[in-house]
Amino acid sequence: MRVIVVGAGLGGLTLAQGLRQAGIEVAVYEQDRPRARRQGISLHVDDRGMTALRACLPPGHLAMAEAAMGGPRERALALSEMDGQLAVMGARPLDGTPTWPGRQAHRPLLRAVLLTGLADAVRFGARCTRFEQRSDGTVRAWFSDGSADTADVLVGADGVGSVVRGQYLPHVRVADTGRRMLMGATPLRAIAGTGLPALIGHSPASLRSDDTMMALGVLRFPQEPSAARARWLPAMDERAAAEVEEYVMWALAATQEQLSSAASPTAVWHRAERLATNLHPVLRLVVAAAWPYATVALRIGTIPAMPAWPASAVTLLGDAIHPAPGFGGNLAMRDAHRLRDALVRAARGEQELHAAIGSYEDTMRRDSFPARPTSTPALDRTAAGTGAA
Ligand SMILES: Cc1cc2nc3c(=O)[nH]c(=O)nc-3n(C[C@H](O)[C@H](O)[C@H](O)COP(=O)(O)OP(=O)(O)OC[C@H]3O[C@@H](n4cnc5c(N)ncnc54)[C@H](O)[C@@H]3O)c2cc1C
Repeated sequence: MRVIVVGAGLGGLTLAQGLRQAGIEVAVYEQDRPRARRQGISLHVDDRGMTALRACLPPGHLAMAEAAMGGPRERALALSEMDGQLAVMGARPLDGTPTWPGRQAHRPLLRAVLLTGLADAVRFGARCTRFEQRSDGTVRAWFSDGSADTADVLVGADGVGSVVRGQYLPHVRVADTGRRMLMGATPLRAIAGTGLPALIGHSPASLRSDDTMMALGVLRFPQEPSAARARWLPAMDERAAAEVEEYVMWALAATQEQLSSAASPTAVWHRAERLATNLHPVLRLVVAAAWPYATVALRIGTIPAMPAWPASAVTLLGDAIHPAPGFGGNLAMRDAHRLRDALVRAARGEQELHAAIGSYEDTMRRDSFPARPTSTPALDRTAAGTGAA
């Protein structure tokens, strides 16, 4: 069996690693350059994502993935200002509504782990433009660099703006909610002496002040990343571990109007500074000392739950079919794990290929949308997701 994966994001790379582990040939096509940083620097990885990583990664990769994550996050803290000082006013367990307990990962480092060992399988700078399902059961895909490829299965892991979904399920649309989130990261050294890292530890924390809502999380590595690389995954790009620094990630809720024309990361960062104007001085410093290049504006989009479609040799995973704010990465990795298992069953002759893909899709639809479509529109729920604004 041969599989084409469109998109080298969290889902596509987890799937590629899992297929390779199972001895299934895989080719990944990615439109971006290898070190593009369009999705921010931090990722909360919960049990859904960890289970997928455990199943799909070789042991050294898994150990290095864990070394790319901070300490356990089991409760969310509510911060407030008391007598001019930031203080923890309350804590509630992370129970899956909507955030599960987990750990914060350094996203570029995790991505470097996922790319390790796939150099011969991933082709960068190749945007998928279309595909064709052929009468012999194979799928042929075309790419912007002029190349084309044929395989038994085509997986659209190409994110919220998926070209594969656009051709395969043209009736499925992403709706813009108008809500935006500005996210960034600040080196921990820049806020040394403020007491903030000690106050919140590994826990996610949030604070509401007048109209402003800010979320924060500190990432401290359990072991020095270069030492972890040398120990667990020497094949990983050396620069990926050498360049990383501990940080505090932050997010500010915003509206479409507040962001208006801000396009570049620096412009978005300036908007964030403006949004933080009325916050405590330590929080203003967090935003002011951020890495401008790591500031991202997220557009929160939704895809409504949809009826099943007939399974074929083309399928979708992750944001391409069910974007989800704040936990879409975990769902994408979970999809990758489940799809890997389905394709392994088909490759071993234990299940017919389309039946295996259909059972993966049934489970994916059941678990990724809050409710199945019903005849009562009021009961329809949506899956909401993020994309770079
Ligand atoms: C700033 C930010 C913070 C987030 N925080 C969290 C978090 O803490 N926890 C969490 O679980 N989720 C989080 N998310 C959501 C998470 O990033 C996404 O849900 C996740 O990346 C989806 O994975 P994916 O593999 O489906 O798609 P993506 O990771 O978006 O990957 C899609 C890939 O496909 C490529 N691509 C797109 N079109 C084409 C094409 N036509 N041809 C070839 N390649 C193509 C893209 O360049 C991209 O590399 C966050 C998102 C952002 C932006």
